[in-house]
Formats: sequence, C-alpha cells, structure tokens
Amino acid sequence: MKELFDKMYINTSSSFYEKVFANLSNNQKMFIVTANPETFMKAEENVELKKMLLDKDTTVVPDGIGIVKAARILGYSVKERITGIDLTLKLLEYGSELKKTIYLFGAKQEVIDDMKRVLKDKYPNIKLVGAKNGYEKDKDKIFQDIIKKSPDIILVALGIPKQEEIIYKYFNQFKKGIFIGVGGSLDVISGHKKRAPQVFIRLNLEWLYRILKEPSRLKRFYNSNVKFLFHIKKLK
Ligand code: UDP
Repeated sequence: MKELFDKMYINTSSSFYEKVFANLSNNQKMFIVTANPETFMKAEENVELKKMLLDKDTTVVPDGIGIVKAARILGYSVKERITGIDLTLKLLEYGSELKKTIYLFGAKQEVIDDMKRVLKDKYPNIKLVGAKNGYEKDKDKIFQDIIKKSPDIILVALGIPKQEEIIYKYFNQFKKGIFIGVGGSLDVISGHKKRAPQVFIRLNLEWLYRILKEPSRLKRFYNSNVKFLFHIKKLK
C-alpha cells in the first residue's frame, strides 16, 4: 500500500486547483481519483484497481481524513484534504469561466434533472453536451457517446470503484478532458442530499455525519476504515 501513498498529491488544495485550471485551459487530459481509506483497501484486493491508481496518467488526491491521517502517521507531509465535492464545484466554476463543455454520467435521473437546473442558474457559461443517469445497463454505450462528444469535463457518479474503472477503461481513447469519479457529489450539489454542517467538516467528522444520516454505511465504514487503521499500524 505504501506505493499508493508515494504517488498521492500532498500539496495544498489551492495549488491543486491551479493545476486543474491550467490543464482545463490547455486541454490537457487528466484523470483524478479522490481517495479515501476504502479506495486504498479495495486496491489491496483488486489488482486492476491498484494498477489504475499507480498509472502515471492517474492523479490521486487525499479526499478522506482517514487517508490524510494515515499518510501523516507514515511520515508524509500531506497538507490537507482535497475533497471530491470541492473539486467538482471548482470544475463547474472553471468550466463556466472558461466556457467549456461538460458531460454528466451517473446518479439518479432526478439528480441529473436538478443538476441541469443548477448548471443553468449558477454556471451559465458551461455547455452541457450530455447527461445520463447511472442506472442504465449498458454503461459502455454511454461511454461511446462521451467519446463522440469529447467534452472538456467529465463527471462520473457511479460510486467507488465502478466510476474509476470505467473512466480508466476508456481514458486512452480521449485526446482531452478532465475526468473525475465524483461519488455522491452530484446528489449534494443538486440539493437531493445535504453535505455535513460546517462544524462536522471543520472537526473532520464528515464521515460520522454520513453514517448518522445513512446507518447502512456503517458496515462499509467498518470494512474499509477500521481495517485500514490496522493495516496502517502494521505498515508503520
Ligand atoms: N450510482 C449510480 N449507479 C449505480 C450505483 C450508484 O449512478 O449503479 C450513483 C448513486 O446514485 C450516487 C453515486 O453513484 O449518486 C454514489 O454515491 P455514494 O454516496 O455511494 O458515493 P461515495 O461518495 O460514498 O463514494
């Protein structure tokens, strides 16, 4: 697992946003994975996922506080979290500023519908070239459509690791595009789910808020985070 930490971006979120802005301006291709303990734990069992995370074309950023703390325990000077939701909001902002095109793939149809409204109201200069919910069977067909449209920003919300796997599968067929697996971010940005209150975010307890809101996440949390902690202790 150490090699995953080795390649993770450890600088500030603002410096990362600058990099994203520059790549978006210059049509430089990018695949961003926002990592949390679950991502790294899954990569321990899933060879393909690990290969993808270690690929030179993949940029891994520390999304979860668990990853940040673990990295620090292992001696990496990680500055701060770079969350999927903040990155998504930045991409929408930059996309509108630079008049870029965007494709939304994933989440429920009602979330997609409300995202269209959010784009119109808050990011009027971004051009939506495609929007498909994540519950259609033939996901490869949707990616063929994304290839055809060749958007500047591609947000994929299918959950970890499905969203990353499908991006990685087709990434080579694109000449440009900022690709990111956004998990539940569209649910929040569209207003269907609430992000944790500021106090939870400030205290690094966003994960706790999500469990309190959706107790079914507890098992997932145990399987990834608690086991992850033991793993890091062993590594140290
Ligand atoms: N999702 C989807 N198709 C599926 C499974 C999930 O589009 O077959 C969507 C789901 O609606 C949600 C997102 O993927 O918008 C994943 O959300 P979750 O909160 O589980 O992601 P996390 O941020 O925890 O990775």
